[in-house]
Amino acid sequence: MTRAKKIISGICGTALLAGMSLSLPAGIFISGSAGQAPAAAAKADIEKIGPNLAVIRLGDVATTVLWGASDVLVVDPGYEETGPALREAIRGLGGGVVKTIIDTHWHFDHTDGQKILGRGAAIISSEPTQKWLSSGQRLLGNDRPALPALARPNMTFAESGSIQGYPETVDVRVFPGGHTGGDLVVYFKKSKLLVIGDVVFSDMFPFVDVAHGGSPIVLAEVIQKIIDSYPSDVRIIPGHGRDLSMADLKAYRSMILATVGLVRAALAEGRSLEDIQKTDVLKDWKSWERGFTRNDWIGYIGASVKK
Ligand SMILES: [Zn+2]
Repeated sequence: MTRAKKIISGICGTALLAGMSLSLPAGIFISGSAGQAPAAAAKADIEKIGPNLAVIRLGDVATTVLWGASDVLVVDPGYEETGPALREAIRGLGGGVVKTIIDTHWHFDHTDGQKILGRGAAIISSEPTQKWLSSGQRLLGNDRPALPALARPNMTFAESGSIQGYPETVDVRVFPGGHTGGDLVVYFKKSKLLVIGDVVFSDMFPFVDVAHGGSPIVLAEVIQKIIDSYPSDVRIIPGHGRDLSMADLKAYRSMILATVGLVRAALAEGRSLEDIQKTDVLKDWKSWERGFTRNDWIGYIGASVKK
């Protein structure tokens, strides 16, 4: 455990002390409580948000990058395979060395890029995300080995924190229990940009990692907390798909509540999940079936109700 980790964790367990900060070697200050990979040749789609802030999409994953005169902060570095292309894209924007990485959650499509970009960086996550990236896990029927030590989170926030030393303050807040038990969101206050990882999948039924603390029922609560916590005019960057507005988030929450309600009502009648899937209780919600199917979604709801 590094000295930095120790201090952050100590703060995490107690109250956040205003103005408390931690000095890192790079001059960065952190304070607070603390599928399938695309081909390596994937082309970066770069959405410039401001003079020092951009969203880079490689394959199906959105990576957010904030850079100063020499140091770079990255949220969700994506796949290992696209790590070199991500590094090139960051260089092309004028960014230097990646000094800070923030993981919205543990899934490999968001974190494996740390094998390429993580060496020497402060890698920040929630505590569950750090735990799951530090030992072997199962995900969607596949083994996911632990990340090598250099690529693992080395600092954790239990609830919230902020990072200074870049062109704008970066606020981090943990909202666990929706997509996974370790989800966090990252807010670039000056730019009004909110990065939410996989809490919401744009315009489609979500994947919920029930085996790692995710729940469709908690997901609706998490989305409401996010709506209540940030300004109504923020631009929202999900891990996959188009940018969203707060109105989109509200509509998404309504979809979750309605579909979870239908499946729970059918379960309460004593019907089996298989029967609910067969009789297609979500047939009116077909348009949300893009990546994950209605039956997948019914399965996630059923699995979390049983827990
Ligand atoms: Zn995910």
